[in-house]
Amino acid sequence: MLQEFSYLAPKSINELYAMLKKHVGKARILAGGTDILVELHNNWIAPAILVDIKKIKDLQGIIYSEADGLSIGASTVCIDLINDKNVQRHFPLLADAAHRIGSLQLRNRATIGGNLCTASPCADMGCSLLALDASVELGSSDGVRVIPLKDYFTGPKKTQIMPHEVLQRIIVPAEMAGAKFGMRKLKRIKGHDIALVSVAMARTSKVMRVGIGSCAPTPVVTGDLSSKATVAAVISAVEKVVSPIDDVRASRDYRLFMTREFVEKIYPELF
Ligand SMILES: Cc1cc2nc3c(=O)[nH]c(=O)nc-3n(C[C@H](O)[C@H](O)[C@H](O)COP(=O)(O)OP(=O)(O)OC[C@H]3O[C@@H](n4cnc5c(N)ncnc54)[C@H](O)[C@@H]3O)c2cc1C
Repeated sequence: MLQEFSYLAPKSINELYAMLKKHVGKARILAGGTDILVELHNNWIAPAILVDIKKIKDLQGIIYSEADGLSIGASTVCIDLINDKNVQRHFPLLADAAHRIGSLQLRNRATIGGNLCTASPCADMGCSLLALDASVELGSSDGVRVIPLKDYFTGPKKTQIMPHEVLQRIIVPAEMAGAKFGMRKLKRIKGHDIALVSVAMARTSKVMRVGIGSCAPTPVVTGDLSSKATVAAVISAVEKVVSPIDDVRASRDYRLFMTREFVEKIYPELF
């Protein structure tokens, strides 16, 4: 049974900031609810207040410009990312990654912001956005700060977001528009499942990057590699950032093997 909680639904970003400040430590944000409702049902968390952010316009919408790249509202659901013409045209890796999340029902509900705020090591949007060198915009009554996604994840289910902050937008730089890309996700079953290993690669004429999920305490990314790096150099860079563990779903060795395998499979698709 669900514990009792109060429900608030601010209509503006300033109203949200004020609520988060007033109820700091007691309130939790509710977006699509696909992660947090599981936590509530299992009594893993017991917030006194749920603050529903779905009515806030500033957290919605996908904006693209040639100069500034892509700005995605944190409350954007996976299906809107998949169907967005600018995402399909300029950042298709994101549509591909969003399509790999759960089932159709889930993709209609799950938000990109929720995926990054749950901060699971296997977050599918995490490794793809890392490969695209994305940043996140965090806001509160103290102001707005933008941090690179590669510095945002700090541990399993831990991020730099402070309790009175909200993830507002995700920014993908213009330089990554049109990047060649590839993604693979290893699952236990053919249907919807979280990743045992996921690898997302992006390559422009200048740079290549690999984002990896489920192979470290957080989604991780290589440094900026030369766009002409050999596959051996790419694998070596990947091996420096991953640190998989043995767990009930897969062994460390299997995860390492599949990571290399996926890089080898994706690499030729980037040229
Ligand atoms: C059956 C099932 C299958 C799944 N499959 C996958 C999968 O294949 N791949 C995958 O990556 N994930 C998967 N998930 C996990 C989940 O669906 C995603 O992480 C989803 O994107 C979470 O988004 P949400 O909007 O539902 O978040 P919510 O559940 O509403 O929120 C998640 C967390 O983020 C916080 N939060 C949400 N938005 C913000 C914000 N803007 N600012 C600050 N904090 C915020 C909430 O307080 C909460 O702690 C699955 C979940 C289920 C139940």
